[in-house]
Amino acid sequence: MENFICIQCGTQFDKSAQPPASCPICKDERQFVRHAGQEWTTLGRLAGDHRNRIEDEAPRLLGIGTEPEFAIGQRALLLQSPGGNLLWDCISLLDDETVAEMNSRGGIRAIAISHPHFFSSMIEWSERFGAEIFLHAADREWAMRKSPRIQFWEGTTLSLWDGLTLINCGGHFEGGTVLHWPAGANGKGALLTSDIITVVQDRRYVSFMRSYPNLIPLGPAAIRRIVERVEPSSFDQIYGGWWQANVLSDAKAAVARSAERYLRAISS
Ligand SMILES: [Zn+2]
Ligand SMILES: [Zn+2]
Repeated sequence: MENFICIQCGTQFDKSAQPPASCPICKDERQFVRHAGQEWTTLGRLAGDHRNRIEDEAPRLLGIGTEPEFAIGQRALLLQSPGGNLLWDCISLLDDETVAEMNSRGGIRAIAISHPHFFSSMIEWSERFGAEIFLHAADREWAMRKSPRIQFWEGTTLSLWDGLTLINCGGHFEGGTVLHWPAGANGKGALLTSDIITVVQDRRYVSFMRSYPNLIPLGPAAIRRIVERVEPSSFDQIYGGWWQANVLSDAKAAVARSAERYLRAISS
């Protein structure tokens, strides 16, 4: 029996003797099955020819990504806070070297994940660090490996510790969540957004999509809801889901002007 991992999206599944027939996350219209067809790996095989790159993205914000690039190529973030460290988003590969690096920085108190494209090997991480996982209940159906460590939360916000707050924005996924870190950006506040609010090539802007690989846009109600949900929070920076995909100043205004530009584009 193995916990198979989908090569395309990096999601680890419940134990099975044979690989699952298909990956629901990749068959969904927001992802895709690779041209060569569905393929699977395991954590052991992945660790054989990949390693994790661990590098500071900002003070007290450590990036963790896999090389060579695996699945959607994301990096997770270890947010180091006085009340305990939070792993924001997740990646598929967890090896002893990575565990030692996390432990040297105080370990992981809890894991919070923006949406199913980052669920990856979250149960492996939660078990190695004794950490609970916060997922929005609206995305419950996409959790492919079950665990009592997953806490499905409901509603618009969830307060954690040290002012850290999960905010449900919807959009890309109904349970799509961002994290407000009030102590980030030297006390001006930061949002960790994954691709619920995605940082684009011109880093003065962000964007919002139902599907990024398949270019399915969102409608005006969804865009307005995202802007409204982050409006009560102060933030000067945004950290997206990939290396260097960060808005490093004036981020709240960047969300506003990006939403206005988007609404103009889809109304003409
Ligand atoms: Zn998949
Ligand atoms: Zn996504």
